[in-house]
Amino acid sequence: MVQHLRVTYNDIHNLIRERTPQIVRDFNPDLLIAIGGGGFFPARVMRTFLREETGKKTMQIQAIGLSLYEPIEGTTAQQIGHEVIRTQWLGPECLKTLVGRRNLIVDEVDDTRKTLHYAISELWKDVEKELLSYPEEERAALRDATKFGVFVVHNKLKAKLAEIAADTPYFSGADVEDLWLDYPWEAINIDEHDRLAQSDRA
Ligand code: 5GP
Repeated sequence: MVQHLRVTYNDIHNLIRERTPQIVRDFNPDLLIAIGGGGFFPARVMRTFLREETGKKTMQIQAIGLSLYEPIEGTTAQQIGHEVIRTQWLGPECLKTLVGRRNLIVDEVDDTRKTLHYAISELWKDVEKELLSYPEEERAALRDATKFGVFVVHNKLKAKLAEIAADTPYFSGADVEDLWLDYPWEAINIDEHDRLAQSDRA
């Protein structure tokens, strides 16, 4: 049986608070790209701490939807869990703004790493397409100035099925064992979830 670990909103909030100063120091993002649905809440919380840490104005959060585990309409049973499926992507105006900026991709958990690998490689393809609209002599400098970083609340310590390039800064709130994490936003009864999380701890 897969072991579960219940995580509370406060656990997540505090992990993000602890990691944000390092993210500002080492990456200093201009834009957050949340992978939905698990990355939405962490990205919103991170925005609070980025603002606190930098004093800069509220950062934009853009969203992409990727699904590896969830059965969604239109997918076959064979696709689920093997392929990353796009359910939502950045619009043309937003894709333009990735060029020359430091874009931090936010998700709740890095399990097999397939989703993060897919997100980074597809976003780079989009940046390459956008670069074609710039004069050729400007492209190399703009490509160099474009950065993607990754923040996940939890990174599972396990053999990964995909890689993230070494030049992509990677931050995790916590490295955890290979357990199934139960997130608070999936709970039907949040009081019961929090109570069980406390008793697990005890
Ligand atoms: P990966 O592509 O790294 O295998 O997994 C990405 C997605 O799988 C995550 O964004 C998340 O939606 C789901 N996932 C993986 N492990 C867990 C887990 O332990 N708990 C929950 N709730 N979702 C998970």
